[in-house]
Amino acid sequence: ELTYFNGEFVEPGEKCVSIDDRGYCFGDGVYEVTRVYNGRCFAFSYHQDRLYRSMREMDIPVKMPPDDLQELHEIMIEQSGITDGYIYLQITRGVSPRHHAYDRSKLEPTMLMYIRPIEEDLSKLAAGVKAISLPDERWLHVDIKTLNLIPNILAQTKAEKKFAYSAILFRDDVCTEGATSNVFAVKDGILYTHPANNLILKGITRQMIVTKVAPSLGVTVIEKACSREFIENADELFFTDTIGGVIPITKLDRKPVGNGEPGPVTMRLRDGYEKLLHEGMA
Ligand code: PMP
Repeated sequence: ELTYFNGEFVEPGEKCVSIDDRGYCFGDGVYEVTRVYNGRCFAFSYHQDRLYRSMREMDIPVKMPPDDLQELHEIMIEQSGITDGYIYLQITRGVSPRHHAYDRSKLEPTMLMYIRPIEEDLSKLAAGVKAISLPDERWLHVDIKTLNLIPNILAQTKAEKKFAYSAILFRDDVCTEGATSNVFAVKDGILYTHPANNLILKGITRQMIVTKVAPSLGVTVIEKACSREFIENADELFFTDTIGGVIPITKLDRKPVGNGEPGPVTMRLRDGYEKLLHEGMA
């Protein structure tokens, strides 16, 4: 494990975040999680683009140019010696006495990064996981990767209390995404997922599936808002996220998805994604 805080490498616990940091008080900040595999950041440019977009949308000034950010990621991998793990990056709006409105000119963003190894056995996810459905109670700009994750935290906790891996969220009758991931459905060999608008986070893993893996396997993708009925009757369902990759869902609300086994299209996509990850080709 290696931690970077505002321009220097620090021991965990060495630095104290100010009690007036807006990230601490308001969740006023953005973050990214990038997979490190074979000693390299996977799909780094996508994470970088999403981070700068989140900062633009949040009106947080960029202090570190893209080349330096990339170099810092590479240095962290090299210095930590971690070849299989992830890098967490967080930028808050900075420190000022608590007041909702901010003055951009008086704030210096706080930047935290750390690299940690992945210790759990991710391969067991291939056997499929259970999901529950929950209402999507988030705000209308979840396309911005902000630190404010209260509805996600509550939904994920509810899911785990029911021994599910995660929750599938529904905004009214529409399946948006997972509590910590994107959601895909397969029906009659066609892949469906919610369009990348303000109602979902445009996941990098999702982008890899939609623009690279599915086309290379000849799988048609339709980006549309799917109803609860459609999701409940899907042949296959899966989650995607940076850490777990493609995660088959074999049970939804205690009912089997399809025949209750990870589906064939899901597993082809999973294999295709793993290949991409192993080759570092993104
Ligand atoms: N949606 C939400 C709400 C998430 O928190 C995440 C990331 N954990 C994702 C989707 C997946 O994004 P990515 O593939 O970039 O990890």
